[in-house]
Amino acid sequence: MRLANINGRAAIVSPDGRSVDVEAATDGDVSSDPMEALAALDRLSSIEVPADAPTVAVEALGAPVPRPQKILGAGINYFLHAKEAGFDLPDQPLFFSKLPSALCGPNDPIVIPDGRGQVDWEAELVVVIGRTASRVDEADAWSYVAGLTAGQDISDREEQFRSLRQFTMGKSFDTFAPLGPVLVTPDEFANRDDIGIRCWIDGELVQDGRTSDCIFSIAQLIAWVSQISTLEPGDLIFTGTPSGVGYIRTPPRFLAAGETLETEIEGIGRLGNRCVSGPAYVSRTYAHVETVTA
Ligand code: ZN
Repeated sequence: MRLANINGRAAIVSPDGRSVDVEAATDGDVSSDPMEALAALDRLSSIEVPADAPTVAVEALGAPVPRPQKILGAGINYFLHAKEAGFDLPDQPLFFSKLPSALCGPNDPIVIPDGRGQVDWEAELVVVIGRTASRVDEADAWSYVAGLTAGQDISDREEQFRSLRQFTMGKSFDTFAPLGPVLVTPDEFANRDDIGIRCWIDGELVQDGRTSDCIFSIAQLIAWVSQISTLEPGDLIFTGTPSGVGYIRTPPRFLAAGETLETEIEGIGRLGNRCVSGPAYVSRTYAHVETVTA
């Protein structure tokens, strides 16, 4: 099943791009709110998209999960990415958060504040949690997954690698989390642990990986996180990015206003986000006088 957010309303989408509104198709049994629909997928499985249903207009698509309680991102979760970055292999997952206010739709612009010159791309498979998950076992982890979608973990490297590291803020500028185009239920994938991910800038392929290269599986990530933090329906886990990001290149390469970033995940679809220039970033630094005397 493929679930989309069309002009703010949940819709079931057919593989060839036609759609039917969830609330209409269930006679009001399931709400049109995408957050409620993703937690009620078992009541949507019998919906057939009519042959004469309208084709989805890409500009009408919003983030399929518009209001998650939380977004977690796995760092260094692909063997080839760990190698290109020169990191030792972690023996347990590493996580940061992205603030939900960073979310935007699959075809929305990515706003680069004027004056920021180290904004980077990270194409990622994103897990959408479907029911409350606390201290779950790896063997049960997939039963808590509503579906998979595609995302970009856009990262301002200047902020991310500032003194003592600032991953959360560096990855949480508004529009730094494009998501979509649809949520796809796990049963739609031939092998849910081996899915292709690709990314282009203005048509030039910059990332080309597979989730089978992941250091920690989706089940392992869910089991690890849920022993610390209860996951709720709609929570998102960005599962890490394959090799090919910009800051590790020689010379480094970053996104610039005017460029179009495309992200494609096998079985899910493609995001197309144009980078635009936004209001200037105001650098705020503060000098302090030491007041402790004893
Ligand atoms: Zn990432």
